[in-house]
Amino acid sequence: MKIIMLGAPGAGKGTQAKRIAAQYTIPHISTGDIFRANIKNNTELGQKAKTYMDKGELVPDELVVDLIMDRFKQADCTNGYVLDGFPRTIPQAEALDAALNAQGENVDFAINVEVPDENIINRMSGRRACVGCGATYHIKYNPTKVEDVCDACGEKLILRDDDKPETVKNRLSVYHEQTQPLIDYYEKKGVLAEVDGTKDMEDVFNAIVSVLGK
Ligand code: AMP
Repeated sequence: MKIIMLGAPGAGKGTQAKRIAAQYTIPHISTGDIFRANIKNNTELGQKAKTYMDKGELVPDELVVDLIMDRFKQADCTNGYVLDGFPRTIPQAEALDAALNAQGENVDFAINVEVPDENIINRMSGRRACVGCGATYHIKYNPTKVEDVCDACGEKLILRDDDKPETVKNRLSVYHEQTQPLIDYYEKKGVLAEVDGTKDMEDVFNAIVSVLGK
């Protein structure tokens, strides 16, 4: 099953994507996580991506497309994947379709997790990320057991630069301009499903499972 998660930054698509990956035994592929891992390891790709990410801008399509095509070659992708944060532009979606169509395949579902902008700005200021493993939490909606300490690896939590309010506003306008058109794109292909992302995490997940089937 090949699934795409759509939705504004902070809509909760990462959290849902992880659960979908576990439920359907497919890998969760987050381009943002891949970039952050590259930044942490100070690779050339990481250095290039960081200049865009810190401003809330999108990394150029060529970089992202090459990276994701490379990821698809790994053995864990044979039964599909859930993509979180890719595609984010029409050219990225077209590149994905071209690659899939060349193998007689298609995207099965594009799930749009809908959350209004006001909620997003509120949510992002409470988001915290682990400096060690990158796990994300929310001080109110998804807190850690011990304040500011990662449940998964015990490292400390921070407010990511790209989750700071000025950057979030920029990310939202980039989202509306460049990523929102994908909703129409996938609707026309007949694979779009919309879920209300303002509900609590469990309800959102159940809504997604009823779209994907058990
Ligand atoms: P995310 O964690 O998905 O919100 O991604 C964090 C940042 O990584 C974004 O604000 C972009 O700068 C960059 N990024 C991640 N995925 C993509 C993509 N598909 N296209 C362009 N930039 C991306």
